[in-house]
Amino acid sequence: MLSRRKMLQLLAGMPLLGGLGVSRLLETDRAFPGISESKRNLFNELGIEPLINGRGTITELSGSLMLPEVVEAIESTSDTFANLNEVQDKVGVRIAELLECEGAMVTSGAAGALTLGTAATITGMDEEKITVLPNLPGPRKEVIIQKKHRYHYDHAVRNTGVKMVEVESAEEMEEAFNDQTVMTLFFNAAAQFGGFEHSIGHEEFVSISKKHNIPSFIDAAADVPPVKNLFLYKDMGFDLVTFSGGKAIRGPQSAGLLFGRKDLIEAAKLNNNPHSDSIGRGMKVNKEEIFGMLVALESYLERDHDEQWEEWVGWTEVIAGQAETVPTVQAERHVNSGPANHFPDLQLSWDQDRVAITPEEVVKELEEGSPKIVVSSNKKGLYITVVMMKPRQVDIVGQRLKEVLEQAV
Ligand SMILES: *Cc1c(COP(=O)(O)O)cnc(C)c1O
Repeated sequence: MLSRRKMLQLLAGMPLLGGLGVSRLLETDRAFPGISESKRNLFNELGIEPLINGRGTITELSGSLMLPEVVEAIESTSDTFANLNEVQDKVGVRIAELLECEGAMVTSGAAGALTLGTAATITGMDEEKITVLPNLPGPRKEVIIQKKHRYHYDHAVRNTGVKMVEVESAEEMEEAFNDQTVMTLFFNAAAQFGGFEHSIGHEEFVSISKKHNIPSFIDAAADVPPVKNLFLYKDMGFDLVTFSGGKAIRGPQSAGLLFGRKDLIEAAKLNNNPHSDSIGRGMKVNKEEIFGMLVALESYLERDHDEQWEEWVGWTEVIAGQAETVPTVQAERHVNSGPANHFPDLQLSWDQDRVAITPEEVVKELEEGSPKIVVSSNKKGLYITVVMMKPRQVDIVGQRLKEVLEQAV
C-alpha cells in the first residue's frame, strides 16, 4: 500500500484525483479526523467528497455517525456465525428490559418498523396471511389516521396493502372503525411540522383505539432527545412505538427500534427476514447491526444528556462568535420545540445592504468550498444544526462562515 507521503507526491504530479486537489485533500484530513491516514481512504479513491453535516440527521446525508462503542460491537461480532432468530430474540429481550416494555425488535430503520408493525396487526401469527401479504384476498384492510398526520412515511404502512382512512375529529374516528380496521397510526411530530394542534390528542387517540380493541402505533422516529420520550408513548398506552436507530441515538443508520405489545412484536418478527416468504425479507438487518443497535441504545440511556446539551450549546456559541465578527450579523440560538429534532440550533441573519450575499448563496458557497459544509437557509437567513458535527469541525464551520460573509462586506 502507498504511504501517505508517496500518495501526496503522486498526487502532486496529478492535477486532480476525483476532483480533489492536494490542498483539498489536506483540508479534508483536517476536517475529518476520523478518516484514517494509514488505512485505505475509499472516499478519496472513489472521488466521493466527505462533508461536514450542518443539517442534522438527514438520511440523504447518511444520517448520523455511529459511536465508537457501536462500531466496536459491530466489529467484535462480525467474525463468527450465530442464528439470526436467536440474535433478534435475545437482543429484543434485552431492549425490552431497557425500555421497560413487553417486547422489542431491531428493524431496518423506523420505516422498516412501520411496515413490520402494520403487517403484524394484519397477520398476527397466521402463516398463510404472512405469505400472501400484501395481496390478502377480500376487502382491503384499513388503517385509521388523522388527515393532517398523512406523511411520506405512511408509504411504509401502505406497503402492506392497507388503505389509509382519514379522520378529522374524535367523532369521525369513532365512526371509522369497521371489520377491516387493523390499526390506528399517530405521527408524533405532525403538529410540529404542520404548525397546528393535533385535533385528536395522544390520550384520546389511544383511548378510542382501545375502546375498539384496535392496536395503536406511534411513529416517534426523530423524537429523542429528551431521552424520556423513549418511555413516554408506551406509557401512554400505544401498542407499538418506533424510533430510528440512526438518528440522535447514533446506532447503525440502517437500524431502528420497534417495541410494545409482545404478541405484535412476535408477529412482526414472523413477517421479517430471515423468513423468505415474507414482506420483510428485503428489510434485512445483519446480526452485527442488531448488536450495534443494542449497544447504541445502552449508551444513549447511560449518557449524561445535560452535559451533551451544554456541549451542543457551546458549539452554537463558537460558530455564533465567529460569524458575529462580521458587521450586522446576528446569531440566535433556536431550540426546536420538538418532539422531532429537539436540538439547540443556530439561526443567523444579516443586513443584506451591508453584507451583500443571500442566505442561499452562502449555502452554495459553503457547499462548494473546501471542506464541503452543508447547512440550510430559511426565510430568516441561515440555519445551522450543530449536533451532527464533530468537535473539530465546529471551528472550521465558524471560520468558513466568517470568510464567506466577510467577502460580501
Ligand atoms: C426519519 C423518520 C422515519 C424513517 O426513519 P428511518 O430510521 O430512516 O427508517 C420515519 N418517520 C419519521 C417521522 C421520521 O422522522
